Amino acid sequence: MKQCTQCGKCCINYSDGGLTASQSEIEFWEAFRPHIYQYVKNDELWFDPVTGQQLSICPFLRKEVSKVPDQQKYTCDIYHNRPEDCRFYPVTIDQMIYDECEMLQPRDLNNTKKAQVSLDGLTEDSRPAFS
Ligand code: SF4
Ligand code: SF4
Repeated sequence: MKQCTQCGKCCINYSDGGLTASQSEIEFWEAFRPHIYQYVKNDELWFDPVTGQQLSICPFLRKEVSKVPDQQKYTCDIYHNRPEDCRFYPVTIDQMIYDECEMLQPRDLNNTKKAQVSLDGLTEDSRPAFS
């Protein structure tokens, strides 16, 4: 398993209605982070504050200039206040395969059970273990 390459695929795949935040996060944003809360509607993420329409891409995803030609890199403008789903990702190897997550290496695909244990070890500080 490699480190995250900041390819942005996970953000792009889930930000059009596939993300949730905990109730406490939403309440915190409402009280202290209005620039985030303005994109929440009926406790769901992410909606245009003016039109009320579901956004197709997360408003906090920022494209960076990559030093590597033909490689796109992304950062999160609200990294320290990002929703639970974003903090927990990636949870399963199946999910990573589906998303074409660049953390996966060929040996992870050859033994997905071992890869899941390895992933749980890497993310033990940010979410409960899946395996
Ligand atoms: S909040 Fe941050 S981590 Fe979550 S989808 Fe948006 S850019 Fe990605
Ligand atoms: S898909 Fe994987 S490698 Fe790409 S940004 Fe998300 S966690 Fe990182």
